[in-house]
Amino acid sequence: MYNAAIIGFGGMGKWHYNAITKQIDGLKVTGIYDIREEARKEALKYALHIYKEPQELFSDRTIDLVIIATPNDSHKDYILQALEAGKHVVCEKPVVLNASDLVEIMEAEKRSQGLFTIHQNRRWDKDFQTVKTILETGTIGQPYFIESRVNGSSVFLHGWRDYKINGGGMLYDWGVHLIDQALLLNSGKVTSVTAHLFNVHAQEVDDNVKVLLSFEDGLSMLVEIATNCFIPLPRWHVSGADGTAIVENWECEGKIVQLADRKALKWDNDIVYTAAGPTRTMAPRPVNTTVQKPLPEIKDAHGNEYHQFSSADIFYHNLLKAMDGRAELLVTSQEALRVMKIIELAFQSSAEKRGLVCSI
Ligand code: NAD
Repeated sequence: MYNAAIIGFGGMGKWHYNAITKQIDGLKVTGIYDIREEARKEALKYALHIYKEPQELFSDRTIDLVIIATPNDSHKDYILQALEAGKHVVCEKPVVLNASDLVEIMEAEKRSQGLFTIHQNRRWDKDFQTVKTILETGTIGQPYFIESRVNGSSVFLHGWRDYKINGGGMLYDWGVHLIDQALLLNSGKVTSVTAHLFNVHAQEVDDNVKVLLSFEDGLSMLVEIATNCFIPLPRWHVSGADGTAIVENWECEGKIVQLADRKALKWDNDIVYTAAGPTRTMAPRPVNTTVQKPLPEIKDAHGNEYHQFSSADIFYHNLLKAMDGRAELLVTSQEALRVMKIIELAFQSSAEKRGLVCSI
């Protein structure tokens, strides 16, 4: 049995506690450190040990794993201290706020006995796995444009997410997930980044984000995060040479429409008179030239329906195996570094109001 301690027992700290306690045999959360009294009181209800100082936690020999779930600006120091104490470390995303801080952590990772990983749990979201499966099976042919969106209308950012000093803003918060997913859909390099960041209501940070990524094989991906969208667009819209897929939402409603066969690429279309006047190119396609299919069925690691801790099951079981030397980590700092470099370019692109060429 391995023991874990959580730093930051707020929304996500409690999620880790619940996920581990409910379903991860071989790992037990035994203590927490939090600067807030309410959080400490809550942890007492679960009979957890409350560390008075971070140092007390890092020098506790009974702790094997440190889970960091504090606001984004405080991750770096805790990671460095935990690695230097020889602990294994899980840090919430975004791991840090710039690439050079992550490189510093990667140096510490090399010196440490401990493993270091980042909680990029949205790699195992059902909607993402659905799109990944569609692309891997070639159902809609060669993809050339993928739109990935999360559209909310909360308008205001919650708590520390509203402040620059804490690493707030939506590019760090959701951008880090959607860009991580984008990089998993295409194995090639990112060759340009163009970003438009808005602060529609937030004073200091971006609250609405649009990032366009180009990949070396010709694929482009649009990543959008909205907190001010009252008519949401689909979670995913995927354009392939032989069809289109839509994943409407996290529940994975949606469909695939593909060409009936390659011969159906062309048909004898005549000019059509629409409410907006005549058109040939935009004339509706005869229904018998396409086939509509349901989205592929995605199950969790045990072949069951997805639930809110499905990702934790995969993430923590992999980590435990890696701690035993029986597996490679599924989420590496090297991967997080690519995402962080793209985020840096997105900030720069938006500030300079131009697209930036790169090779990441
Ligand atoms: P939160 O505000 O709900 O919780 C943060 C906790 O950290 C609070 O209890 C606070 O008192 C404590 N804290 C603040 N500063 C601290 C410090 N210096 N030392 C110790 N404790 C401190 O925030 P949250 O929504 O749980 O976010 C925490 C982290 O989790 C962030 O990095 C966020 O990006 C990430 N997160 C990840 C996901 C995901 O799906 N992976 C979802 C939400 C949040």
